[in-house]
Amino acid sequence: MQTEPRLMQEIDQRRSDLVALTQGLIRIPTLNPPGQQYREICDYLGARLERSGFAVELLRAHGSPGDSDRFPRWNMVARRNGARPGDCVHFNSHHDVVEVGHGWTRDPFGGAMEGDRIYGRGACDMKGGLAASVIAAEAFIAAYPDHAGAIEISATADEESGGFGGVAWLAERGYFNPERVQHVIIPEPLHKDRICLGHRGVWWAEVETHGRIAHGSMPFLGDSAIRHMGAVLAEIEERLYPLLATKRTQMPVVPEGAKQSTLNINSIHGGEAEPEPGSTALPAPCVADRCRIILDRRFLIEEDIAQVKQEITDVLDRVKARRPGFSYDIRDLFEVQPTMASPDAPIVRSTAAAIERVLAKTADYVVSPGTYDQKHIDRIGRLKNCIAYGPGLLHLAHQPDEWVGIQDMQDSAKVMALVLADLLSA
Ligand SMILES: [Zn+2]
Repeated sequence: MQTEPRLMQEIDQRRSDLVALTQGLIRIPTLNPPGQQYREICDYLGARLERSGFAVELLRAHGSPGDSDRFPRWNMVARRNGARPGDCVHFNSHHDVVEVGHGWTRDPFGGAMEGDRIYGRGACDMKGGLAASVIAAEAFIAAYPDHAGAIEISATADEESGGFGGVAWLAERGYFNPERVQHVIIPEPLHKDRICLGHRGVWWAEVETHGRIAHGSMPFLGDSAIRHMGAVLAEIEERLYPLLATKRTQMPVVPEGAKQSTLNINSIHGGEAEPEPGSTALPAPCVADRCRIILDRRFLIEEDIAQVKQEITDVLDRVKARRPGFSYDIRDLFEVQPTMASPDAPIVRSTAAAIERVLAKTADYVVSPGTYDQKHIDRIGRLKNCIAYGPGLLHLAHQPDEWVGIQDMQDSAKVMALVLADLLSA
């Protein structure tokens, strides 16, 4: 039999294995926060991949945010070298999942199979994608035992909280350097016929307005930081939002509403602290001497981050020019540059050709509105040849009754296996 039909058959034959592996991963509740059972999931995967001929490393990201003896940040990196030199293709999945939340009608860590679906927290984001990549690699090794280059599979910590104890930590230690790895697929749930080229940028900042405390019955003796912040919010509403709506991108961002610059006012706090839940105490009358907002600005590959920051300073300076006594502080919290692989990059072309063969349709190209671990692979690892591609529907991520389709996992495992055949069989 020719090797390509044999490869597809190897995946079809592994259907029950794919289901069992996905269920096994879901049944290890790797909740983040706090970051629990990371070691267990790394051991589980590592033992399996060792049996498939991979050399497995378990790495704890000592000193990363949240790392402690109680909740150590464990990562697993498995590598299998081929019979001769060649490129390395790396599949990177995060193994952490977000909190369960309310509204489930199934056991979130039961991994129940119903028809074509497997249910559970992390089913689509992204234990289904992780399982598909393992099956793809194992089927490829069976069909092409003498392959060139190397295959790597990693399961990494803390993507849901920024990836600093996971991909960022590994990238800082050279695990994603282009000398070691040449192609990366991140099997996030973007759907089996879509290639995600990258993501928009992010800037988080805290703005604080200042006031003077006084008795609430004589507010004229104080100066309300909340009223000052109200003026800032009005300026954002009247001037900044209309400006952001004019900034459109050529990046193929989905959904459509995210094809422009966006700003979320993440939170606001001013004056007296909120009472404890259940407290029956009444508030005390005071003028607020401080008010803070947290801004979450998402920006485009066409924008410069210095300009993005300047727009906020301009808002504050316009308010300052017309409000006596107005003063503010602004503090950077966090920033990530936008990133986008070229549609001509080798991993993109290879994945697009594989989608066409497996699904008989042309691939769609998308860019994510929010960031994921590609940021670290690009900025720290210096590797541009990276995409997100995997089974599952993005809108089910973080929802109650999250599920992943078995057929979708099989189809995307076939796509991943064909990518390996394309890049590692020469
Ligand atoms: Zn994810």
